[in-house]
Amino acid sequence: MTKRDYYKILGIAKDAKPSEIKKNYRERAKVFHPDANKGSKKSENQFKVLSEAYGVLSDTKKRKEYDRNRSQKGPSRGSSKGWGSSGPDRWGYGFGNQESKSQKQQESPFSQSSEDPQPHDPNAPTRGFDLQFMVDVDFVTVALGGVISYKYEKYVRCENCKGTGETEEKACRECKGKRQVVKEADLSVKIPPGVADQYVLRLLNEGGEGINDGPPGDLFLRVCTMPHPIFKRKKNDVYMEVLIPPELAETGGSLDVKMLDTVKTIEVEECTLTGEELRVPKSGAAILWGKKRGDLIIKFAISDS
Ligand SMILES: [Zn+2]
Repeated sequence: MTKRDYYKILGIAKDAKPSEIKKNYRERAKVFHPDANKGSKKSENQFKVLSEAYGVLSDTKKRKEYDRNRSQKGPSRGSSKGWGSSGPDRWGYGFGNQESKSQKQQESPFSQSSEDPQPHDPNAPTRGFDLQFMVDVDFVTVALGGVISYKYEKYVRCENCKGTGETEEKACRECKGKRQVVKEADLSVKIPPGVADQYVLRLLNEGGEGINDGPPGDLFLRVCTMPHPIFKRKKNDVYMEVLIPPELAETGGSLDVKMLDTVKTIEVEECTLTGEELRVPKSGAAILWGKKRGDLIIKFAISDS
């Protein structure tokens, strides 16, 4: 369970009606939607937090659970684990990051430290962890869309103790009383055509399983485009260099070029010089989510022999 104040994030009062929640979410979502803020990691992140807040407060059951957990101030679960790749978390949180929040709480003389939580009902349903990972995806799949197979680890119910944490009145040997065990998950992930590098996909309910029938968390995957030895991408256009022999450059003629997903025959003009470009329409990257495509720009280089 997060320590974030979802009410503040959505700019509503604790007793806000569902219609108010929806209205405020829509207004804010328009401002922070990734499509309206191309390349802005900050707004992408704010959008993610906003969606998370709305996902909880718009669901009567989740909202009740969230309110209950907040009033109990129990041990926090389901907070983000940081991006599951090496290196520090580079992109903080749009609405004030968790570290500074928890520091503030520690400064307060009335707050409980995490070692000494207030009594927390161990049988209360608890939402599973949200998981965040970076995933390397090959250049062509990001440009044109496709499906990748993704393996990761998450907490799932311990089957040995059926999620109770104990067997025959003793702590379960498998999960050591934690009710859950780590298990590898293998997921087919659809990469929408033409997503930008660093786009964050949200896979609902694919995070850690909940405890005591609590709902599962979500999985967030940040798409990291792997560099390609030939192609470079600028928005929806793709650039490549093609080496041609001097004779072809001089006389001109046709040439087969291996493009992103096909081989096309292009015409090389007479007396082509190094650095000249040829634009092949609709052979570049997909334009976000759709069937339309950008262009492929070929830059000629003439070989020495
Ligand atoms: Zn167990």
